[in-house]
Parts: sequence; structure tokens; C-alpha cells
Amino acid sequence: MGRLIRDFNWEDTSLGAPAGWSQSLLTTLSIMLNSRFPMFLFWGPDLIQFYNDAYRPSLGSNGKHPKALGQRAEECWPEIWPVIKPVIDQVLETGQPSWSENELIPIFRNNCLEDAFWTYSYSRVFDEPGKFGGVLSICTETTEAVQSHKNIQNAKNELEFAVEAADLGTWDFNPVTFKFIGNDRLREWFGITGDEEIGLDVALAATIEEDRERMAAAVAKALEKGSDGNYNIIYTIQDQEGNRRIVEATGRAKFDAEGKAYQFSGILQDVTEKQQLQMRKDEFISVASHELKTPITSLSASVQILQRLVKTESSSEKMATFVTKANNNLSKLTYLLDDLLNVTKIQQGQLALNINRFDLVELIKDCCEHINPLQDYDFVFMGDETLMVYADYRRIDQVMVNLIGNAIKYSPRKKRIEITVIHDDETATVSVRDFGIGINSQKLPHLFDRYYRVDAFGHQFSGLGLGLYISAEIINRHNGKIGVESEVGNGSTFWFSIPLDDPSIA
Ligand code: ADP
Repeated sequence: MGRLIRDFNWEDTSLGAPAGWSQSLLTTLSIMLNSRFPMFLFWGPDLIQFYNDAYRPSLGSNGKHPKALGQRAEECWPEIWPVIKPVIDQVLETGQPSWSENELIPIFRNNCLEDAFWTYSYSRVFDEPGKFGGVLSICTETTEAVQSHKNIQNAKNELEFAVEAADLGTWDFNPVTFKFIGNDRLREWFGITGDEEIGLDVALAATIEEDRERMAAAVAKALEKGSDGNYNIIYTIQDQEGNRRIVEATGRAKFDAEGKAYQFSGILQDVTEKQQLQMRKDEFISVASHELKTPITSLSASVQILQRLVKTESSSEKMATFVTKANNNLSKLTYLLDDLLNVTKIQQGQLALNINRFDLVELIKDCCEHINPLQDYDFVFMGDETLMVYADYRRIDQVMVNLIGNAIKYSPRKKRIEITVIHDDETATVSVRDFGIGINSQKLPHLFDRYYRVDAFGHQFSGLGLGLYISAEIINRHNGKIGVESEVGNGSTFWFSIPLDDPSIA
């Protein structure tokens, strides 16, 4: 802009040649041209214009620049003259600067009238006594900032609409004050009037007594230093009239560099109907499996007798083959039924443990032999060669049958399975590694849920999605831990650890 000003033919303007310009104008121009802040100067009674390089982009690529230089303001800005003229006049008259923030002043640039937002101030520049002086505008275009703000507002409105449409409660918990704010729906569910912050104690009071401790513990765990911040819990709330609602809360805490939680927010969903449906399904499965148990038990007994008979009495070879087939299928049926009965037991809190002392490594080796009668899988044992534990033999066997069974089932092509048993002073850890299909990392958190199957609608692998759920319950009952690491295409490692001897689990 300095060069353009020097090259401009000023004699054709009311300002005349630069040699006659006042010191005040020269100083103001020098300040302007050396500044990276957008500035615009109207000088003399004709309000002849100057601007700096920083202002230049606001004039667009196909519009007022470079014509605006040396032009009379009124000629340059017909579209906004009614807005800015009174402001300029007032500044000139009173000497009081003006201030406007994020004001919409559409200007003609890029071949069209564009909406543009500005934050600007006009201030008077005095000249030598008796001379008119001018008005300096220091401004910045805020169109982008205003648009971003609008976009955020739109996104917020859309989110609010989605929350509304999905019938969700939302909450934002302050980990410092232990108070939270919630949307109207959440307040209604918790029976809260007014819109002040809600204390955690109020939320706990609205939670039914049986769920209170679990809910408080889940909040504490999500906020704990070093936790992943995830919060997911189903609990029941009750309003003053005694109406109950089952809700599922999902949220996440965020932590600062020191590991202290500074934000914890999420949603609340009414899952009453879903839970009732689940309860009815469970009830049906419970009744159906109990009803099936008696005929299947007597069928098993009959088939076993038949098996003995075909060995001792003369009968056709075909008979023996079919009786064996019937027996094998009956065993599969019994396994499935056992899984269903186990689920019922777990839900009714009746999964009792029968603790005895046994060699964990021996149990695992026996289990592998039974599960792999054709010897077509190659089991590799690592770690301890013997390890005595106090646990429920049958239940731990059930876990091993499930983990090894899955390792076989989900590795149809890779026949190597590595089983490692290690221990420290207090715990035994068993891991089962296969080199099969592996599991998508997004699915991992759900693997131990009831009826969960990664490929729920595929028919490649049969199953009910109960084995891992039951295994996790058995390990939990032993005060142990269970987990998995896996990568699609590279196999999975399922592991569990149990106390070597925990008298509290008897
Ligand atoms: P299922 O009867 O379906 O095998 P489980 O509860 O034992 O039920 O396992 C749940 C799901 O976890 C399975 O459907 C399968 O998708 C996945 N899974 C379990 N073990 C493995 C494994 N070793 N490799 C790959 N996927 C596995």
C-alpha cells in the first residue's frame, strides 16, 4: 500500500500533492502503513481514503481495491454510507471515539454484496489548527468468528433437537463441587423443581436404596485418578409419588495433566421397557430351560442304557452308530441347556461355589484332552508345571472348557493354541492364546455381556453368546479378573486371574 500511495496521482484530489501534506497526515499514514492491524483513514472535508496492507484482504479480490485509495468515502461506500456517515460525523463533531463489536456491515466485494461482520472504532485525528483533520478507523473483520459462533449455535440446536427426539436426559457434573446440571427431562425424572445445581446427594436420594451404593461407586470409579473415565450403569430411580423408572447412565470424565477430573458429563436413557422385555425374556428362558431339563435328563439316561445294550446284545452295526450319534447330539444339547440354566442361576444370585484344593495345571491339561479328542489342535503349555489353588473345580473347568472351546471354534485354520499358567504370591493367572480370526477392538468391551456375539447375524459359528458371560461371573465370584486382548486376523488372548486362596469366597 505504501508503494500505491507513493505512485498515486494526488494532485487530482482535494488533498493535493504529498509535498503539501501536513505532518499530522504523514505521521498517521506512517503509523498505519507500519501496522499489521487493519486500518482505514478518511482525511480532509472530502474524506479521502487511505488504508494499509492489513485492511487490504477485507476489500475482497474483485471489488473496491485499488479504486478505494484516494477515493471520496461517499463514492466508495454507497451501500453502507447511511450507516457510517452519521458515525463519522459524530466522531468529527464531538471528538468521542465510536466502538462497534461484531456489527453486520455488508460490503460489495468479490462481485457481490457480502455479509461481513466488523469490530471497529472510529477516532478523530487532529490536524494543524484550522485544518479539518480526519477519522481513523481501526477495525478487524470478525466474519469468520461470527460464522463459527453461529455454526456452534446451530450444532448445539441440532444436538438439543436430537436429545429431545431421542427422549434423553443430559447431565454435566462438576467434579470439584460434586454438583451437576441437567436438562428438563432429567430434572423431571429425578423429581427436581427449580433450575439450580443438583447435589449428588439429591440424585442418590432419588435412586432406590438397593442401587445407591453401586451408583455412588460407579461415579467414584469414573472420577478416580488413572481411570479411563468411562461411566455406564443401569439403576432405578423413584419420584415422590413412588413411580419407578429404570435408567441407563452413560458418560465420560475428562482429566487434566495432573490426572484430576475437571469435567464429567453424559446422558441418561429410560430403559424401563427394554429391561422389562429383557426380564420377560429371562423369565421365559428360565421356565423353558427348567421344563426341558427333566425330559432331557431322562432321555440321557435312556440313551446311555441303549448304548450299553447295543454293546451287550446282538444288534446291527447301524444301530450302534445311530445310538452314538444320538448320544453326541444329546451331549451338545445338555451343554446348551446347562448354559441357559447357569444364566438363570447367576441372575437369581444362586451361583454357589464349592471350594476345594486342586492342581490348576492338571485341570487344564485334562480339559484339553477331553476337548481335543482327535488331537488335531496343537496345545502348547507354558509357565508353571503345577499350581495348587483353592477354587471351585467344576466351575473353573467350565471356564477353561469355554475359553479353549472358543479358541478352537474361532481358529478354524490355525491349529496352535498357547496356554500359559503363571502365579505370584497371591494370584494365579491363566491365558489362552489362539491365532484365529480375532476380534474388532470396538467389540471388546461387550464380549462378556449376556447373549453378546460379535457376528450376531452370521451363521459361520454356532453359539448362544453366553459362555463368556458365565465365565466372567464365575471368575468374579472367585474375586478374580477376566479380560481379553485381540486383533482382527491375528488371534485373541483371553486371560483370567484368581486368588490362590481367598477364604472369603467359600
Ligand atoms: P458363543 O457361544 O457365541 O461362542 P461366547 O460368550 O463364548 O459365546 O463368546 C461371545 C462372542 O465372543 C462370540 O460370539 C465370538 O464372537 C467372540 N469370541 C469369543 N472367543 C473368541 C475367540 N477366541 N476368537 C474370536 N472371537 C471370540
